[in-house]
Amino acid sequence: MAISHLLSAKLIDRSRHFLQRNYPIWPIWGIKRLWFSCFAGTIGLILLLSNPAQAFQVQVQPTSPALGDTISVIVQAAAGENPTVTMRQKTYPTFNLGNNRFRALLPTTPLDTAGTLTLQVNAEGQTQSLPIVLRSRSFPTQSIWLGEGGGPEGTDYEFNKIDAFKALVTPEKFWNGPFLRPNQGEVSTIYGVQRYYNGEFANDYYHRGVDYAGAEGSPVIAPAAGRIALVGRVSEGFELHGNTIGIDHGQGVLSIFLHLSRIDVKEGDFVQAGQQIGAVGSTGIATGPHLHWGLYVDGLSVDPVPWRETGFE
Ligand SMILES: [Zn+2]
Repeated sequence: MAISHLLSAKLIDRSRHFLQRNYPIWPIWGIKRLWFSCFAGTIGLILLLSNPAQAFQVQVQPTSPALGDTISVIVQAAAGENPTVTMRQKTYPTFNLGNNRFRALLPTTPLDTAGTLTLQVNAEGQTQSLPIVLRSRSFPTQSIWLGEGGGPEGTDYEFNKIDAFKALVTPEKFWNGPFLRPNQGEVSTIYGVQRYYNGEFANDYYHRGVDYAGAEGSPVIAPAAGRIALVGRVSEGFELHGNTIGIDHGQGVLSIFLHLSRIDVKEGDFVQAGQQIGAVGSTGIATGPHLHWGLYVDGLSVDPVPWRETGFE
């Protein structure tokens, strides 16, 4: 806990900022006094110059993120248009947390390149550049040997429904506090595991979630509150993913559960943290009963562990 710190606000262009913030006020103020006393007007101007409006403040958590981490950027800014945060040419929205605090959640994955990233934070008509270091992280690897032919390739129906689900960004925030473990089974495959297929490294592959080796029929609970935004069944074409549930936790944070034996909810339902939504199974492409839980932030699969252990406000 407490891995947050304040990055001191950097004023990119102090004089431009001063003029933008104060132009409508100071000429009238200065000129008014000029009629009475040149001297008083000068003092007024000096006071304003020595006390320019504070630049907005930015808080980044965690301070030393690694591949797969979610980066929370909280901007303390005057009311007005919501600030935005740009990372690697992609601009992320911020959402109002109250008290003039706005937050963007930036996903990182094992496919990112470690090194220095520059965040561009835009608020109050100014831009601040914040360098952050994304640490490398080594993920376990698996070797998979595939025979000729292969299995089912999935249907357009399931891919289209899953793509539409992953694109959801709902302004409301439904979660509250750290996420719960969705099944009591042991973790059998962690997030981020990479693969060799027939001896060749799969560049675009990483395990996009956490697997729990829960028994067939054991309960799957919602790790956090949200709206059921996806229900997919083998009988309707979910041949790869199996029986599937997707929960929209709000603000671009989504959970997906695969290979279920049973589904206890329907699209549109609102679920609370800890509420049972289905049961573990081995439907779709699965070698045995297990729960796959994928956590997505703005369309990319991130490591759920920080969401479980520390949580994001
Ligand atoms: Zn999995």
